[in-house]
Amino acid sequence: MTDDDARPGGKGITSVTTTLPRRRRRPRRPLLVKGVPTQEYERGQLPPTERLVITKRARLRDVAAPGWRRWTSHAAIAWALGYGSLRIYWTLGTAPSPPPSGADLVALTGWWSVALAGAAALVVLGLRRARWWLPLAVAAWGVSVALVAASALLLLDVVGIILPGLGLTVHPVAFLSRVAWLAGGVLVGATALSYQRHWRGACLACGSTGEAGRPARPPRWARVAAWVAVAGWLVRVLAQIVVGFGNDLLQAGGSLLLFEAGFLLAGTVLPLALVYRWGRVFPGWVPLLAGRSVPRWLVLAPALGIAVGMTAYFGVSAVQFSVETLTGEWEQGAGSLPLWFFWVAMPAYLVWGLGLGAAALAYRRATRPLCRTCGC
Ligand SMILES: [Zn+2]
Repeated sequence: MTDDDARPGGKGITSVTTTLPRRRRRPRRPLLVKGVPTQEYERGQLPPTERLVITKRARLRDVAAPGWRRWTSHAAIAWALGYGSLRIYWTLGTAPSPPPSGADLVALTGWWSVALAGAAALVVLGLRRARWWLPLAVAAWGVSVALVAASALLLLDVVGIILPGLGLTVHPVAFLSRVAWLAGGVLVGATALSYQRHWRGACLACGSTGEAGRPARPPRWARVAAWVAVAGWLVRVLAQIVVGFGNDLLQAGGSLLLFEAGFLLAGTVLPLALVYRWGRVFPGWVPLLAGRSVPRWLVLAPALGIAVGMTAYFGVSAVQFSVETLTGEWEQGAGSLPLWFFWVAMPAYLVWGLGLGAAALAYRRATRPLCRTCGC
């Protein structure tokens, strides 16, 4: 008898019973996680001495999140219902139509804004009830980014409020609407972050898993990001030098000079302060403050604010500009700047914003105080 004959279905003897070795299924190993509710697992097949404790991880809605994270998901749902209803009312009636775009939001106007508010409510409900599911986390971050991007014109409002002399018109209703839209993005983003941390078994307050220690200095990628931000700023300035400054600077009032000073600081000092020691401890030549710690929010607040504002505003503008130039719909407007200037300036701003944001996140991690929830 050959091997062929012995196989079921092979020629020759048909009545041979073969007992092929069956692959035994491995019993599923229980997932043990500290600090979450457990239930005892008792089945007949287990010997009485082997009492296995299996951990069932609670859903996000059943977890007592620390601090303000406790109410973010509720607030996100309330926001979506309340603000979504207002958007329905505006879409059916008269929505505010402020300059420069004629709408309070960018790209997502009318029923799109209603749909996005509905999507926000759905993903937050999902995050509260579902087990870990990557597509859900990706969808939640997508909704959060879309909400922040739609409020991109807020950057112009903030500049207009801080420096009224620049002549930027701030429409109060549109401004409040953009603030509300941004708040929705932050609430959905905060809930998505809690969901991610919870299912990774990380601390809900700080995201630490207790493994990696506190970095003594910012990582290499953070320094690269900071210098990339400076390079973006430099390219933007060089593009301006090529087309010339016009007479604006010579006739500039206090507001424009302040704006230029802020522009210079945000492109050079701020990104580098995030990754060099003098951004954490005042250097020796600073009178009175030498050797003292720099208040972290003095550096972090402008860095995060400018990074988010610039990335949202110039990200949306770059996409709109690219689509309009490629389809031939782009209009020059009142200025006399050549087309190439925008192709250089917008990506430069975007790179500046992204580099600043990455360096700011590294600074935030490096200067984080001890967590009151986990002690890490
Ligand atoms: Zn913690």
